[in-house]
Amino acid sequence: MINNDLLKNEFRKRIDCDFVNRSKLGVIFYAVAWSILFLASSVHLTNPYFCWIMAGLLALISAIRLGLMIIITQHYERFTLGLRRLQTCLVIAHACLWSILFFLANALPAFSELTTSINILTAGIASASVISLTPKYRICLIYNAVLTVPTGVFLLLDPEQWNLGVLIGFFCFYLIYITRRYHKEYMRAFRIEWSLQAKQKELQALSQTDFLTKTYNRLFFNEQIAHQWYLAQRNREELALLMIDLDHFKLINDKYGHVFGDECLVHTAKIIRNVAKRRSDMVVRYGGEEFAVILPQTGIASAISMAENIREALSAQAFSYRDAQHVMTTSIGVCAMLPIGNDYKVLLHQADDALYKAKKNGRNRVEVSELNQYEDVP
Ligand code: GH3
Ligand code: MG
Ligand code: MG
Repeated sequence: MINNDLLKNEFRKRIDCDFVNRSKLGVIFYAVAWSILFLASSVHLTNPYFCWIMAGLLALISAIRLGLMIIITQHYERFTLGLRRLQTCLVIAHACLWSILFFLANALPAFSELTTSINILTAGIASASVISLTPKYRICLIYNAVLTVPTGVFLLLDPEQWNLGVLIGFFCFYLIYITRRYHKEYMRAFRIEWSLQAKQKELQALSQTDFLTKTYNRLFFNEQIAHQWYLAQRNREELALLMIDLDHFKLINDKYGHVFGDECLVHTAKIIRNVAKRRSDMVVRYGGEEFAVILPQTGIASAISMAENIREALSAQAFSYRDAQHVMTTSIGVCAMLPIGNDYKVLLHQADDALYKAKKNGRNRVEVSELNQYEDVP
């Protein structure tokens, strides 16, 4: 079955990682742009400390953001909230520093040499942020507000430059509009991907489930028996298999009808699941009225005891449905082994032979495979 919370967490992680990873170029830009600007001007001669401190801070934040890109995927689950907050702080910190430069370039004559280039770059940064910060709408808005509003307000209040302030105001509205649009498109694409993934998982679960009894089906069995065989071999653990066959089921069908027969199968599956209830136990409808149970990390003694429990639980009480009732019995073949070699079908053959023996010896009984015959079974 699909775990929706798990899926939601997966997608939250995708949004967070996207938010960090989409700004790679922007982060590199922040690290070098200011240095290129001031080194090519005379500003660093008049304000060397300021220039280098700003360059250092911008580069430091860029370095931390790049580090975050490297570690976020591996450490996301452990530090989700911390990483999320750190990334937000770093993004806003970059915006603050650049906002200071933008402000100074427009407000102080000492920086007038850089005004045009910084204005052009600021427009570029703000526009690019709409795409790179699109996964988080609000943070994108705050980022652009921090970047543009202080200088915009300053220019508006300046009688000589108020027209530039008005232009920045228009630009801000444009940014809000386009940020909203991009974010919507991003989320729409995201939702489509999400529902496709959910459907894919649903289909996968369906393709492995028996329609009537809701146990696993034969397809799943065929995949898992080999997988569990090699897993147990690698871990040097025992693997057990129960082959379960309802006795005289054809007669039940003939006597009470197929609807009653179907309900008997559903009831049997429930009983088997109640006994084999470890998360690793796999209950499978092998065919018609036959079930199989794959029991990883299980030795012969536990496997026999589980088989006996299933047999007893089923025959202890008559199963009733509508007006009919019937005491069902079952024959079970058991085999457990330490897997050796590649022939995983040996486990299936052995459990099947034991089932055949149970049928031959009178039904309603559990028989152990020849391989386990001489083991010390309590
Ligand atoms: P045995 O004790 O030797 O196992 O005898 P049996 O009658 O149980 O075995 P047999 O193989 O002769 O018959 C199995 C029957 O199971 C025949 C088939 O109609 C019935 N069956 C198989 N699948 C379903 C199903 O999905 N629903 C119902 N109601 N019956 C089914
Ligand atoms: Mg059968
Ligand atoms: Mg049968």
